[in-house]
Amino acid sequence: RLTLANLSKSFDGTEVLHDISFDEDVRALAIIGPSGGGKSTLLRIIGGLEAPTCGTVSVDGRPIGTDEKSLRAYRATLGFVFQDSGLFHHMSALENVALPLRVVHEATPAAAEERARELLERLGLAEAAAKRPAQLSGGQKQRVAIARALAARPRLLLLDEPTSALDPEFTTEVLDVVRDLAEEGTRFIIVTHEMGFARRACDHVAFLSGGRLAEYGPSERIFEHPETPELQRLLSRLL
Ligand code: ATP
Ligand code: MG
Repeated sequence: RLTLANLSKSFDGTEVLHDISFDEDVRALAIIGPSGGGKSTLLRIIGGLEAPTCGTVSVDGRPIGTDEKSLRAYRATLGFVFQDSGLFHHMSALENVALPLRVVHEATPAAAEERARELLERLGLAEAAAKRPAQLSGGQKQRVAIARALAARPRLLLLDEPTSALDPEFTTEVLDVVRDLAEEGTRFIIVTHEMGFARRACDHVAFLSGGRLAEYGPSERIFEHPETPELQRLLSRLL
């Protein structure tokens, strides 16, 4: 269960997140909203990558802590996927997935490789295992990044616009993978501009605008009956 209590964040005196509170047993949550609305900042705070100026993030009722040691332990329970796959160029796809298992999670090389192969296969990347990132398509790279994020069986996957750098065909390919994972029980929070995906694959939607959680609810309600004029405008522009 994820609880955000009165989160605020300022950069150099400018507040970019205002008093955000939230309490939900997250399964598949989309964070949507206009550019600069604070989506990435909120996701980074949820992930323990950025400290809030005020407020707390709690998981199952326990605050994630503020010292580096507890934050590191907390981050190790999560999987992160960003806009840029962030893969190591000089390593194969397989090594990219296996590396964090060995280094962060202290798996043996054999166990790490076995798990990496299993994940690559599951994400349709068996034939890409030996290839380096430069030899892969954008969609394949993002799927390798997802495999890497899943390697240590995170309790929650955090994705920040994983498809915004991709062509439409690869966008579908990557989002299909996320949807399949969700159907198999992987919990995730995704920042996305893909409204079709938010509607179909996410059970809840948070609409963040101007640093405020302007609207939050089941995705069906959000898309069929948006309450704020801002969200109504955003959605009508897309139709
Ligand atoms: P986009 O859709 O363009 O990715 P976003 O909703 O993810 O936007 P954020 O990246 O969270 O928005 O940024 C929210 C605000 O915070 C912006 O005004 C941005 O300039 C500011 N901001 C974000 N990170 C920093 C930082 N490290 N230092 C200073 N200002 C920042
Ligand atoms: Mg962003």
